[in-house]
Amino acid sequence: MIGERRPVGWLSPRPLPHPLEGLVSTAATTSPTDIPSDIQRVFQLQRAHQWQAKTSTAEQRKEKLRRLRAAVEAHGEELVAAVRRDTRKPEQEVRITELLNVLANIDRNISNVEEWMKPVEVKTSLNPDDRARIVHEARGVCLILGPWNFPFGLVMGPVAAAIAAGNCCMVKLTDLCPATAHVAGKIIRAAFDEQEVALFEGGVEVATALLELPFNHIFFTGSTRVGRIVMAAAARNLASVTLELGGKSPVIVDADADVGKVAADLAAAKQFNGGQACISPDHVFVTAAQKPRLVEAFRDRVRQNLYDADGSLKRENIAQIVNAPNFARIKRLLDDAVAKGATIAVGGQLEEADRTIHPTLVTDVTPDMLIMQEEIFGPVVPLMTYDRLDEVIEFISARDKPLALYIYSNTPGNVERILQRTSSGGVTVNGFFSHYLENNLPFGGVNQSGLGSYHGVFGFRAFSHERAVYMHQVKPAGAH
Ligand code: NAD
Repeated sequence: MIGERRPVGWLSPRPLPHPLEGLVSTAATTSPTDIPSDIQRVFQLQRAHQWQAKTSTAEQRKEKLRRLRAAVEAHGEELVAAVRRDTRKPEQEVRITELLNVLANIDRNISNVEEWMKPVEVKTSLNPDDRARIVHEARGVCLILGPWNFPFGLVMGPVAAAIAAGNCCMVKLTDLCPATAHVAGKIIRAAFDEQEVALFEGGVEVATALLELPFNHIFFTGSTRVGRIVMAAAARNLASVTLELGGKSPVIVDADADVGKVAADLAAAKQFNGGQACISPDHVFVTAAQKPRLVEAFRDRVRQNLYDADGSLKRENIAQIVNAPNFARIKRLLDDAVAKGATIAVGGQLEEADRTIHPTLVTDVTPDMLIMQEEIFGPVVPLMTYDRLDEVIEFISARDKPLALYIYSNTPGNVERILQRTSSGGVTVNGFFSHYLENNLPFGGVNQSGLGSYHGVFGFRAFSHERAVYMHQVKPAGAH
């Protein structure tokens, strides 16, 4: 059986309110009354310009991407400082996720766009003398909306793909990172004319105004709750969407797994951005026999990674919780779990004044606890025990499809069984995050965790329409 105590009906999925509901979107810091008219004006400019952008050559697109790269580099230090002003993340994490990754991503588009743009010839089955091909044509005018947890990187990845695919786009970063949004605006203005790419700063009302417009494609990264709002807005105009959403990503530890490795990987993964990553491992399934070893090894590893000899936390090495409402949300999940009988086995220190949560492992967890129902999005990990692997499979497959699934196992047959009987956006076996980092794989969710994918060529495709072109052989007049 899964969990130490099992309430009636524990297998039935419940429609879940999103954990971040009502918490993360603040009112606009500034709301100039002319924003909607400015949005309209730029939208009309881009609508007119899209046909020119669509016909741009690979070289012209590369040139745009080089301008973007140069602007990012020129504002690199300012950007790192801005992200750190908006979020207290370790500087090295910011450099890697918000700067180096963005540059590498732009470079990948520059290196490959020519190849990606080539039409794909297909064999004709109607008549062997005819010709047919698939043309990747720009979608047109796109809207790109991003989340707060990697506020620049998760917007610039899609922007680079949109440019490579020959689109115009309008962009808005989250209102929770105003300093980053401001620097991003400078970068975009330095690299592009507003008829190609334009960035709007502001709050949810700016996002709402943008969503009124008949974009050709909307690329949204954020919560499942707001993803529904975005998809409803897109439906009004039949815009295509890419939705990069969140959810509860489980970790299955098979009976033969190396528990020491699981603990070390888990400690590092939950430290990364303070567990505030869409693909962060959310909860862990282990056998009862493995549980004490996992708890012990996790405690040791966290101590090694994050504490001084005197026991004080090296707080510069773990991101703060982004804001007070999110801190209160995670505290509520922990309080509810403890009230229902869970045990804080590791950590549990919540420093409200500093919005710091020490890496925390919770045991004696049951499915009725909120911590097993809402995306945690923090450095907290509940541990559930199981007897048979099939119980875990049933548990996962009865719930919303997660963005990521992690399996630690040395038995290929078990890995295969899990893969066949569950669904998730992506999977990493015997590690964390690798399916995200591998740019030859599509990254995205499925149903509740998202729609569509990107990274590498998949980003180019997300921003392209696959147009079917069939050409009948034209015979010269009079020929037979
Ligand atoms: P969020 O959904 O609250 O906000 C995302 C964006 O939507 C922001 O730009 C915000 O300003 C805007 N927004 C908020 N309310 C809106 C509304 N009513 N109408 C229109 N726009 C609105 O998400 P967040 O808190 O910024 O990010 C955390 C969530 O994002 C988590 O669920 C996480 O799993 C998910 N996420 C997913 C990915 C991915 O690649 N799949 C990456 C990062 C984060």
